[in-house]
Amino acid sequence: MPFCPKCSYEYEAGILKCADCDTPLVESLPTEEHLQSRDLEVVYTCSELIEAEMIKANLESVEIEATLLVQKDQNFPTVGDLSVIKVFVPHKQAEAARNFLENPQPLEENGDTGTE
Ligand SMILES: [Zn+2]
Repeated sequence: MPFCPKCSYEYEAGILKCADCDTPLVESLPTEEHLQSRDLEVVYTCSELIEAEMIKANLESVEIEATLLVQKDQNFPTVGDLSVIKVFVPHKQAEAARNFLENPQPLEENGDTGTE
């Protein structure tokens, strides 16, 4: 099944692009090593996808490109579906991202950004 590497949604076979963000789909989700090899680094970890999506949206509002990596935590095969979601940003934006996450600023509506 193809996945969107950006938002981690799973699509049906035959679909080539994410309906949500227009990113070309990949056959399997990237691994942490893969992301690190692309010069990305973890700035935030949580277990709720909705929280990770919010962090990603907040970072993107200040033009920091965030990538989510959803992993099942196989080291802790405990009750339920424990997953770990890591928020990656480009290495050179990691410090800005951490500062931003520590001191969140209110979101500003700005109609000029976000289209490609
Ligand atoms: Zn997507």
